[in-house]
Amino acid sequence: MVESRHACPGHCGATVARHLLACRDCWWRLPLDLRRRVTSTYARRDRDPGAHRAAMLATFAWYDAYRRAS
Ligand SMILES: [Zn+2]
Repeated sequence: MVESRHACPGHCGATVARHLLACRDCWWRLPLDLRRRVTSTYARRDRDPGAHRAAMLATFAWYDAYRRAS
């Protein structure tokens, strides 16, 4: 079975499994409040999918604003 993967939103060039938002490195450089927002809305995404989508969009916007200097 081929696992579905997508590009890491952190502009690092990695691909990550579909059920993960970002690769481990990019995940841990997210600010704590954003990580909390993503995980808490993910836990109740069936009841409130809009909140989780909004949290993910906020995360993608953060990655765009804070690209890793390389
Ligand atoms: Zn990454």
